[in-house]
Amino acid sequence: MAGIYVHIPFCKTRCSYCDFYSTLESELPERYVSAVAAEGRLRQQELDGENVLTAYVGGGTPSQLTLEQMQRLVHRLNDTFDLSNIQEFTVEVNPDDVSTRYIEGLAKLGVNRISMGVQSFVDSELRAIGRRHTALQAIKAVDDMRQAGITNVSIDLIFGLPGQTLQSWEASLMQAVKLRPDHISAYALSYEPGTRLWLQRERGEVQEAPEELSISMYDMLTQVLKNAGYEHYEISNFALPHRHSRHNSSYWAGTPYLGLGASAHSFDGMVRRYNPADIRGYITAIERGETCYETESLTWQEKYDEMVMVRLRTAHGIDLDEMERSFGKPALEHFMQEARPHLHNGRLMRTDNRMSLTADGIMVSDAIIRDLMW
Ligand code: SF4
Repeated sequence: MAGIYVHIPFCKTRCSYCDFYSTLESELPERYVSAVAAEGRLRQQELDGENVLTAYVGGGTPSQLTLEQMQRLVHRLNDTFDLSNIQEFTVEVNPDDVSTRYIEGLAKLGVNRISMGVQSFVDSELRAIGRRHTALQAIKAVDDMRQAGITNVSIDLIFGLPGQTLQSWEASLMQAVKLRPDHISAYALSYEPGTRLWLQRERGEVQEAPEELSISMYDMLTQVLKNAGYEHYEISNFALPHRHSRHNSSYWAGTPYLGLGASAHSFDGMVRRYNPADIRGYITAIERGETCYETESLTWQEKYDEMVMVRLRTAHGIDLDEMERSFGKPALEHFMQEARPHLHNGRLMRTDNRMSLTADGIMVSDAIIRDLMW
């Protein structure tokens, strides 16, 4: 069982909050698509014949590729990997790039899930973070996807935006629920060093949402989506029944995946590999027939911390038998010792042999995870 991730690092403009690797250079996509296809051939053996069950084309903005470029990319990957058993094939799009023709083209390539960065359904909030699209474009894009036969639609939302109030957040949530996407990811806005938004805050041009407001917004998010029938299956992820993201769930479960493209990461079950966040360096290396990743083997402690950090974010939580099998009895005893006060104050719960966060625990998950790490 394995997944493939492809990073498409092109954006038309930069959103003010974003620190993902992407470039505004528009003359590189043709060469880049060829390089990604070539990297797939160079690294094919890393999947070791594993059955590829999920594929995810993310970014950047994958929908900045033309349909023809996307077709070439998928056909070349198909020549290299056996994609015949793929259960979930996701492509990320931006609302202002989407047309029915584009989505129909993706569907013909086997894409069965689209993930779209909506962020807010309030235009002034979208402008405040440098998004190019409007709320109406996002609503129309979801319609276009359904018209084109995509039955699995995911949208991203952000709360704590400059100028956002509890009422306007509620309006965005209500609009989201009305559209009834199969999956919703919702994140608190974070101020990352080096972004335009960070600078704006430094200059006093925008105010960070107070912590109490962020907590109220998160609380509202979980209530509204729960009432609308969404399962809260990971701290930031909600899905209608049977619509959990398989690709992301396999990351959390530690399933191997091969990441292709500039800044993409890979994991083969033991070793992580990191491609450079440098599109020209990446293309040049691949065109010379060389891979260009850096390798990191996780230490015992890093693996333990990663299990705590990643699994505790999910509704399934940490399987205590698996923890003992993977790290030994003393590690499990250490974990139970650290978990005790949080169990006592109702922030962690034990169900059968699993440990997970309660609703109260989710609100302070970072602090709990820090306590439980080695
Ligand atoms: S949020 Fe998406 S579209 Fe905006 S700059 Fe980042 S990668 Fe590009």
